[in-house]
Amino acid sequence: MDIAQAFEACFARKPEVIAQAPGRVNLIGEHIDYSDGYVLPFAIDSVTKCAISRRDDDLIRISSAQQSNQLIESSLTQVANKVGNDWERYVLGVIWALEIKSGLDIFIDGQVPLGAGLSSSAALECSVATALNHLFVLEKTTTELARLTQLAENQYVGVPCGIMDQSVSLMGKAGYALLLDCRDLSTKHIPVDFAGADLRLLIIDTRAHHALVDGGYAERRASCESVAKKLNVVAMRDLSMQHLIENKDKLSEVEFKRARHAVSEIARVLTAVEELSSKSFAAFGKLLNDSHSSLRDDYTVSCPELDLAVDSALANGALGARMVGGGFGGSAIALIKEQDAGRISLAIEKAFAEAGFKAPRFFDSLPSDGAKVIS
Ligand code: ADP
Ligand code: MG
Repeated sequence: MDIAQAFEACFARKPEVIAQAPGRVNLIGEHIDYSDGYVLPFAIDSVTKCAISRRDDDLIRISSAQQSNQLIESSLTQVANKVGNDWERYVLGVIWALEIKSGLDIFIDGQVPLGAGLSSSAALECSVATALNHLFVLEKTTTELARLTQLAENQYVGVPCGIMDQSVSLMGKAGYALLLDCRDLSTKHIPVDFAGADLRLLIIDTRAHHALVDGGYAERRASCESVAKKLNVVAMRDLSMQHLIENKDKLSEVEFKRARHAVSEIARVLTAVEELSSKSFAAFGKLLNDSHSSLRDDYTVSCPELDLAVDSALANGALGARMVGGGFGGSAIALIKEQDAGRISLAIEKAFAEAGFKAPRFFDSLPSDGAKVIS
């Protein structure tokens, strides 16, 4: 059943608008958004679709094919008070952030796997925002929609996410990654022609979630802030490697290592842009490996499952691999030759089974288009 039919089966009327928005994967630039660094994500080819019609009253009814088609009822008054229990908050938050003043019927259907580190949450928010922007002729730019959907996730859902996921879900372009400057939020499309070189990006969801996720993040962030204070810079972005090394004695050993990750990772993103633009994929692969080592050894946010995924991919011919996301579980990426895809995923599967880990899940994608209205 397509989403228009599913909407009709649910609400006994036709949708006025249907929009879609993709998930994302970050090529390089990990744990540096809060250090005013750069990130380089691309939109994947899995999307979340959203169909909407206006209502004459102030009711908001929402259903999702990924939540057993259960019908959730809310209202504009509840939205004004940021009420919501569960997944529907991602949708209500966007209605709140866009200040919509009409009742709505909404149906959601997505293929972005939930909680695999591919940002199904941003795909959901951005599909709803794109549909509402069209339906109510709000004429908001993708930059404005990125800020508003981030606001929805921060303040309505209560997740303190940055703006990367929403930006790339809205602004992604087939064949390009999005270089996002986390200091001034400016963006630039960078060509990424993996397909032309018979390469693809394998995404390995380790399905591991270690308890450190929240506390670990706060501790890393605090270290970077402390280093910035001690060395008198605004953020790690303003620190050179030379300055860091010269001032090593002012820092604890842990602070020095955290800062070394941030400073080197920010530089790696800019080098990655050059390597991708000149199609030097072997050199780009090496940057992925360096990023992983730095996250594992200096930032210490990896875990045995992520290390095993990366090591197995490299041992079986990947050009480069690294953990992605916050760490302590989640996904890894590997740049691989098209013809190696089956062999590499089998090798990782086997290594995981031998180590007694949960079976991993695999996805792959080329850089794809961002959000759009489809009817
Ligand atoms: P990620 O964004 O990495 O996939 P998150 O925990 O940030 O993981 O977001 C996942 C949550 O987003 C889900 O638990 C659910 O609440 C919501 N969500 C995402 N996609 C959908 C969908 N298609 N239908 C309903 N809820 C969804
Ligand atoms: Mg998310």
